[in-house]
Amino acid sequence: MSSVKVAVRVRPFNNREIGRECKCIIEMGGNTTVIANPKGPPGSKEDKKSFNFDYSYWSHNEDDPEFSSQSIVYKDIGEEMLEHSFEGYNVCIFAYGQTGAGKSYTMMGRQEEGQEGIIPQICKDLFKRIRDTSNAEIKYSVEVSYMEIYCERVRDLLNPKNKGNLRVREHPLLGPYVEDLSKLAVTSYEDIHDLIDEGNKARTVAATNMNETSSRSHAVFTIFFTQQRYDETTDLCTEKVSKISLVDLAGSERADSTGAKGTRLKEGANINKSLTTLGKVISALAEIASKNKKSKKADFIPYRDSVLTWLLRENLGGNSKTAMIAAISPADINYDETLSTLRYADRAKQIVCKAIVNEDANAKLIRELKEEIQKLRELLKQEGIEVHEGPDGKVVYEKREPTRAEEVTRNNKENNENHRMRTASTTIAEEAVDQLQASEKLIAELNETWEEKLKRTEAIRIQREAVFAEMGVAVKEDGITVGVFSPKRTPHLVNLNEDPSMSECLIYYIKDGATRVGSAEANLPQDVQLSGSHIKPEHCTFENKDGVITLTPMNGALIYVNGREVIEPIVLKTGSRVILGKNHVFRFNNPDAPREKRENSSPAEPVDWNYAQIELLEKQGVDLKAEMEKRLLNLEEQYRKEKETADQLFEEQRKCYEARIDALQKQVEEQSMTMSMYSSYTPEDFNNEDDIFVNPLFDAECNWSEREYELAATAWRKWKHHQFTSLRDDLWGNAIFLKEANAISVELKKKVQFQFTLLTDTLYSPLPVDLRPAIDYDTDDEGAPSKTVVAVEVQDTKNGATHYWSLDKLR
Ligand code: ADP
Ligand code: MG
Repeated sequence: MSSVKVAVRVRPFNNREIGRECKCIIEMGGNTTVIANPKGPPGSKEDKKSFNFDYSYWSHNEDDPEFSSQSIVYKDIGEEMLEHSFEGYNVCIFAYGQTGAGKSYTMMGRQEEGQEGIIPQICKDLFKRIRDTSNAEIKYSVEVSYMEIYCERVRDLLNPKNKGNLRVREHPLLGPYVEDLSKLAVTSYEDIHDLIDEGNKARTVAATNMNETSSRSHAVFTIFFTQQRYDETTDLCTEKVSKISLVDLAGSERADSTGAKGTRLKEGANINKSLTTLGKVISALAEIASKNKKSKKADFIPYRDSVLTWLLRENLGGNSKTAMIAAISPADINYDETLSTLRYADRAKQIVCKAIVNEDANAKLIRELKEEIQKLRELLKQEGIEVHEGPDGKVVYEKREPTRAEEVTRNNKENNENHRMRTASTTIAEEAVDQLQASEKLIAELNETWEEKLKRTEAIRIQREAVFAEMGVAVKEDGITVGVFSPKRTPHLVNLNEDPSMSECLIYYIKDGATRVGSAEANLPQDVQLSGSHIKPEHCTFENKDGVITLTPMNGALIYVNGREVIEPIVLKTGSRVILGKNHVFRFNNPDAPREKRENSSPAEPVDWNYAQIELLEKQGVDLKAEMEKRLLNLEEQYRKEKETADQLFEEQRKCYEARIDALQKQVEEQSMTMSMYSSYTPEDFNNEDDIFVNPLFDAECNWSEREYELAATAWRKWKHHQFTSLRDDLWGNAIFLKEANAISVELKKKVQFQFTLLTDTLYSPLPVDLRPAIDYDTDDEGAPSKTVVAVEVQDTKNGATHYWSLDKLR
């Protein structure tokens, strides 16, 4: 029993993080990883969280003495796991973490010296150890498979014949496995290297054509390592088998944080199915491990809920030595994802595996498979299906007409059975045939000799390379496998991909004369075959004339060169970015031509996928800007015209209103004359309610409802009572006295001025007793009206005093 080994690795800042001036929130010391919360108050409890792992790898900056290089990581984890596989254990290493955190870098790495990841290093070491073994009694054999799990479906990356999705099945003896997944025999590290390379090419082609990203798929590279030992003294052959599973998981970021919508979200959800199930499995296993061992409750581990966990079942808490590497970003902006990765890793630490040495596993399996096959054949015989070997050695299933005697016994047996039972027995028969076929396939595989395996592997390689050649993809960098061009001299397109591990792995040569680019559906065979969004059957041609390459687009084909849409033939300069359709991004290289000068960029800036995308956006953005400016001008022009018309209209309306104002003014003057006449009237003169409609202000025709008449009449009564009688009447009635008083004052040189004023009786300015209104307001009125009275303000300019008189006093 041993726990899962867990390591955490922090990578350097990427360009985006540098650009955004991110802070490093990860600290490491010994096996401990500490994460600081950029939002938490410094020094508080929420500020820092600390985790202990088997290893904490500081790969943030190379100059640090604590820096963990690819070889350090390999020495700790890879070497130990390889040792276990020599002992005969199954081993598994999987990389977990958000997209861009360094999973592929850790597992695969880059081709340059010192940059290779765990997978190539393990393979190299494996063959080195095999070579170094002097023991002639031991025979080694190595086979590999490479698959991708995308949307819960399995794709074979090494065999182009397995175009569709492979079936994941379960065998009672073998457990879950992928049917027909090719297991290829390899004899050297170079063989494996080529297979990985071609597998990655296949993955990239598929991903580009379908506009998928590898961040959503899981890549599983498996090495089947067998050691046969012949013991002379006993004359016995023993065998140890180890399965080495190396898994680069899909990005662990949550679907919502990637802004995934629609289909993408669905894909995310599907992939999350594998990842979330992995999470659930890990949690369940961790719980079991932490629980009291005597706990009787049979814990349910949801292995079956996803393809990934189902296939890796043994590696998760079963017969395996397992290690997990959690890749993390150092940047503060990724705090949430990083913390969740650390928690995940923390849980994985608790998982306990029970690895056993797989001794003579194959022999036992063959024996059991044979027994099973025998049983199944018998079962089928009872169902009237004969199984025998055809002339080509293939198994043939024949529905045999039952003999008379058999029919009698059958009929007797079935006498009491109904039809439903008979159908059930046919499905049983179908299942048995299916099972039998599967078992026979497995046993055939196990019985295959090494020479046969090598032959099959070679046949698949030829097929695979033929498929690449048909697509125009060079298989080896020297181009030898695909054609006669010499790569160092031949102009070519190299693919760029959002995922750095998929970038620059596909090379398309541009031969002398015309190189046609289109899809497989074209009538004319295309030299370079692409597919996916906006790729025409005949998309474009590259014409190579004495080393000068001209790109000619076909009618309506979507092509961008250096971010600009191309509709006419264009001569390509080396280093140019070429985008065909929506997803196919390339850099054009012409080794003989001088390098094209790039605008607005430092020579150090890599011409990668990001560069091409930003350029595309910028250039398309510039064009958009021009377009916007044009539209803006049009809009302004339109606005100007509209404004002119509006101004004109406004001027006319203004004149019209002025005329009406004049008319109204006249009316008001006439009215005020009438009103001054009214001032001599008493309220009683207005008793006839209809009178208001005689008022010249209301001479317009009015067709009010009865209710409106009523309302108007009520309003009139109130107004008459409170306003007209109390204030206006007072003013108009005493104006003459005021005028007279002022005249007298001037005449007598009294330097006293009289004017009307309104005084309100409030708490703060109570009216003098003599100014209090004489009449008491109707008590039935709502609330008492404010006691506002007309008074006379007497300004004594000589003494600088102001007095208030009542109207009575004025009189
Ligand atoms: P993932 O597979 O998790 O999405 P990658 O492995 O592709 O992420 O890493 C993203 C980028 O960061 C790549 O360009 C890779 O080369 C770089 N990178 C990741 N980890 C390291 C590291 N430890 N040292 C240097 N570069 C790294
Ligand atoms: Mg990756």
